Amino acid sequence: MPTKILKFGGSSIANAERIISVYNIIKEKPKTYDYAIIFSALKGVTSNLKALAKKASRKKKYDSELNDLIVLHMDCVDQLSFIKNKKMEESLDRIFNDLKSKLSSIYSKNHLSSKDLDKIFSFGEILSTLIISNYFNHKGIASEQLDARDVIVTDNNFGNAFVHYQRTYAKIRRYCSGKKRLQIITGFLGATLAGETTTIGRNGSDYTATIFGAALNAKKIEIWTNIDGIKSANPNLVENSETISDITYEEAMELAHAGADVIFPPSLIPALYKNIPISIRNTFNPKNSGTKIYKEVKNKEDAIVGISSQSDISLVRLQGAGLVGVKGTIGRIFSSISKEKINIRLISMAFSEHSICFAINPKYNKKAIEALKLEFEYEIKNKLVDQILLEKNLSLVAVVGEGMRKNPGVSGRVFTTLGNLNISIIAIAQGSSERNISFIVRNKDISEALKGLHSEFFDNQDKTTDVYLVGIGNIGGELLKIIK
Ligand code: ASP
Ligand code: MG
Repeated sequence: MPTKILKFGGSSIANAERIISVYNIIKEKPKTYDYAIIFSALKGVTSNLKALAKKASRKKKYDSELNDLIVLHMDCVDQLSFIKNKKMEESLDRIFNDLKSKLSSIYSKNHLSSKDLDKIFSFGEILSTLIISNYFNHKGIASEQLDARDVIVTDNNFGNAFVHYQRTYAKIRRYCSGKKRLQIITGFLGATLAGETTTIGRNGSDYTATIFGAALNAKKIEIWTNIDGIKSANPNLVENSETISDITYEEAMELAHAGADVIFPPSLIPALYKNIPISIRNTFNPKNSGTKIYKEVKNKEDAIVGISSQSDISLVRLQGAGLVGVKGTIGRIFSSISKEKINIRLISMAFSEHSICFAINPKYNKKAIEALKLEFEYEIKNKLVDQILLEKNLSLVAVVGEGMRKNPGVSGRVFTTLGNLNISIIAIAQGSSERNISFIVRNKDISEALKGLHSEFFDNQDKTTDVYLVGIGNIGGELLKIIK
């Protein structure tokens, strides 16, 4: 049975050339196949399938997009030079015909259910694993396609189905025992007990990888993607951000929540429970050892491992003398917000109980305010609650690290750094896990805040620079102004 799980995402298999790079990584491995591989759909395919299904359901023409999708896969097959394989050609024909008939039934229904969409989604992973398993066989790696719908059992919450772990684990173990060939597994897909196709959430292939890893008690899970690993800060905003070499599951989850989208937190759960280390590796740079995620990172002195951030969030604030000492207010606020299915990103309430604020995605601004106005209609009318305020164009920052528990003064350093940069902090939250200090600043300050914090915690260089200026003419004068 496989003792190691590898997963390659869409960007790692964008086209034939990329698939060959994956093969080059795989061919180095022993032919005993003590590992199994999960694949996503080819890059962009899942989103394109969704767009196709939507078009069909609105009775719009979709032939040209459908053709693009077919051509994308056929180009891949042609360039991987095994098109002569008759069986393969027949399989592709059958899959494309199935896809066409499914789309035309959506077209006639003039409606797209999440159940139908999951069925449409499944074509992406079915196609990618069919092509790759054939290519690998052609290159002498004895492999076979494993349709995860045969082993991953879920409920019928289409689009984001809940996995029945025990049933699934037993099925995976039974399926894999005694298999001699390399298993090429469809990511993202599952099925209900009744056999209906489900998906386990967008970007769910990572989750498929940890599910297989946990089922097989794997020693290791490798997630192959298009960057070196989890970064110490958003590289688009902080040029000298570094790849984090070691990180705990909890730290990885804390970072991922606030915008570092290398791995989706729920995907970690099966690995975390079975204590299986996960490595994030770069298909484009396989020599780099990437980021290793595991339970306990020993001998780590650093106070923080990374800073994550998310721009464009809004803050809702409810305040008023009538909130002080009144029980049940918080319950009312959050149940009215949750009824609107609005996700809350950060909460802060002062000891005075006079005000409470929470951060949300700005697309919910209107809904959130309306829900609260309705819920607190009586209190607003009677001046127990002042107006409900909304602040826009804000950014969320989270400074993360297990080390802050042992190193007092981390929050002092965070806020001193921001103070020295003259950046004002709109709201703060620190969970008692002492692993994460989160706060909100204005969008316009985010880049400077991240750079400042990154250099405070990650730069080891001497931070003092002495400048001597001899004689102040025009140029020297200008220089002084700039330095000032
Ligand atoms: N293909 C699916 C998606 O794009 C699953 C994955 O890529 O992990 O969401
Ligand atoms: Mg993907």
